[in-house]
Amino acid sequence: MSARFDVPEVDAFTRTYWDAAAEGTLLIRRCGACGRAHHYPREFCPHCWSEEVSWEEASGRATLYTWSTVHRNDLPPFADRTPYVAAVVDLAEGPRMMTELVECGAGDLAAGMPLRVAFREGKPVFRPGG
Ligand SMILES: [Zn+2]
Repeated sequence: MSARFDVPEVDAFTRTYWDAAAEGTLLIRRCGACGRAHHYPREFCPHCWSEEVSWEEASGRATLYTWSTVHRNDLPPFADRTPYVAAVVDLAEGPRMMTELVECGAGDLAAGMPLRVAFREGKPVFRPGG
């Protein structure tokens, strides 16, 4: 079995996130002190440094901020997926998230287009859709 570079290194803190993703739910973290959401998950709020942060189910809605079509990636299993679209999306709740776009052609993409979360092998990706 060859190494894979597309699987997360799950630890005690992020296990909740990955377990939810495996069930088809995208989680974010929200601060109880300032009310702002953040992503990737942290044990403190990156806006006000409060440790009063908790998990919240995200709506799964996002808009496309920017993207790049990857034509070459020699790390397994990406070589079998090229070309693919690496993207940064703005979640409806506010945080910006790095991800991959699926079910789309490069010519179909436009900044601000609506996206919906989808899951591939328990990892969140996004596809076009309002
Ligand atoms: Zn905060």
